[in-house]
Amino acid sequence: MQTTTTVEGLRGVLDAARVRGESVGFVPTMGYLHAGHESLMDRARSDCGVVVASIFVNPLQFGVGEDLDAYPRDLDGDSALATRAGVDVLFVPSVEEMYPGSVATTVSVAGVSAPMEGASRPTHFDGVATVVAKLFNIVGPCRAYFGEKDFQQLAVIRRMVADLSVPVTVVGCPTLREDDGLARSSRNVYLSPEERAAAPVLHRALCLGASLIRAGETDADTVRAAMAAEIATQALGTLDYVEVADATTLERQRECGPDSRLLGAVRFGRARLIDNVGVEPLDNVVRPPERD
Ligand code: AMP
Repeated sequence: MQTTTTVEGLRGVLDAARVRGESVGFVPTMGYLHAGHESLMDRARSDCGVVVASIFVNPLQFGVGEDLDAYPRDLDGDSALATRAGVDVLFVPSVEEMYPGSVATTVSVAGVSAPMEGASRPTHFDGVATVVAKLFNIVGPCRAYFGEKDFQQLAVIRRMVADLSVPVTVVGCPTLREDDGLARSSRNVYLSPEERAAAPVLHRALCLGASLIRAGETDADTVRAAMAAEIATQALGTLDYVEVADATTLERQRECGPDSRLLGAVRFGRARLIDNVGVEPLDNVVRPPERD
């Protein structure tokens, strides 16, 4: 695996690969890699000739008072995981490399960015869409891999790519979980042992909502109330939101059904955790592959 910190260095490697006729797969991350990231890399590895992963903790997508400075970092561990997953090129730019001057251009995706994470973190998706557009222009991938763990982010990226005719295929990948249902996340490291024990309540509440819909419940308020009540059983968790939304537009639903997505955010101490599930149970539990 090659590691490069510069846009010029990366473009040199990838231009040479494209000349050889290889397709480029891209996995953008903020590092502190875990099995969820690895599953995206595995998928890219099986689809593409050259696999690029980036590690960049993007200041534009953090609001004032959020965890930008505390965000966990471990480049040695990340390099080992990316090597094991068959990544060919690891792109690790500095903030100065990505944003050498002030940034006058923002990519803003209206509508799908507004509710839930957008309401709780008002500048977040502008930062995400802007850096992903920039990374797409730097990498020039044929295919780019994003986790359903960040379901609203995936919807924002899909919409940006469609609206701007970006020549990339966006591939959504299922959420990797711990055995007790907690979604893998770099931010799980913030959890105390007590918070870690309580945290699966978020996934449990979302699965409860999905099972109500499968059983025929069509009133989204009833489902939201049941999910909120489940989360309230854990005193350590503070509910931010639980939603029943259209899986494509992410618009809040009044009537729910098979097209619904259930999404939630709960704070446990320093950690703000997000998760989501579809209505079909098979969407909801994916475990890391066994490795030798
Ligand atoms: P992050 O480093 O948190 O920005 O995540 C980078 C990419 O990995 C995003 O596309 C995430 O959705 C994806 N990802 C993070 N956690 C998981 C997980 N548990 N399962 C699958 N994908 C994930």
